[in-house]
Amino acid sequence: MTSVTHIGFDVGGTKIFGVVTDHDGAVQRTLREPTPDGAVPLIGALADMTARLGTGSRPVSVGVGMAGLITLDGRVTVSPNLVDVDGADIGSGLGDLLGMPVFLDNEVNCAARWEMSAGAARGVRNGVMVSLGTGIGGAFMLNGEVLRGSGGLAGEPGHMIVEAGGRQCACGRRGCWEVYASGSALDRMAVERLGEACRGPAVTAAAREGEVAALEVLDEFAYWLAIGISNLCILTDPEMVVIGGGLSEDWDLLAPTTDKHMAALLIGRSAESRPSIVPSKAGELSAALGAALGGAQGHSAALGGAQGHSAALGGDSP
Ligand SMILES: [Zn+2]
Repeated sequence: MTSVTHIGFDVGGTKIFGVVTDHDGAVQRTLREPTPDGAVPLIGALADMTARLGTGSRPVSVGVGMAGLITLDGRVTVSPNLVDVDGADIGSGLGDLLGMPVFLDNEVNCAARWEMSAGAARGVRNGVMVSLGTGIGGAFMLNGEVLRGSGGLAGEPGHMIVEAGGRQCACGRRGCWEVYASGSALDRMAVERLGEACRGPAVTAAAREGEVAALEVLDEFAYWLAIGISNLCILTDPEMVVIGGGLSEDWDLLAPTTDKHMAALLIGRSAESRPSIVPSKAGELSAALGAALGGAQGHSAALGGAQGHSAALGGDSP
């Protein structure tokens, strides 16, 4: 008999990650494609990837995590890093093409659900997730649930203003946190201080070699990171902060300086009572895995909830 599978996507500004998992949440296959411009081409690309990922199995659910502000009824209100999708109903459009309901949420909300179910935040009731990529995404885990807010738009810390009148942000305002502490911000700092040769992974590689100038850039970056994280901790008093996105892979390098700045910025906490800051267990895959989990839970609920996908998909991390 053909096995039942669950498909999840993480739609970012430049690429789509797709994953297919078995009933226990174990990864069977992954796929990566560039993100096309426009809602109709995006829906077409997701349908095509679903067909390719589902080959040889029987997909029963599809979940999509998308960068941007997603309403409770699955509409994209604004997605600064995607082109021509604002206002689009991606979930219904894809669901009509595939002939099955599609689960849709913000991509970091999806990642946080996976981290709570099977990743770094397993067993955590109150936590914060911060995803460091082109921008900064976020999610609040409150009393064991991901906070959606009154309309689904909660958890966008990248656009907290941390410097009034500061640098220009893609959202149209000035001084947002993601202009100072995202992966793109680290790139900009490295190029400004150290020149074009230090773009991208070169700055972390140089810091690993012990180069003083590269370590100074990382220290300043960690300071801005700690400003935002300490604000989030003052608001929500989490047990844990999970770092996701591409920079989570360099967390061992950033952790000591971030902890140093956190100690100075976070009031009312001793070294023992400060929240732990840990990297995601699935790195860039956690949002796609969380989207697959959200779709599987929706499928399970539609069947009457007897199968308990939340526990079932808490399988081995990849
Ligand atoms: Zn902004």
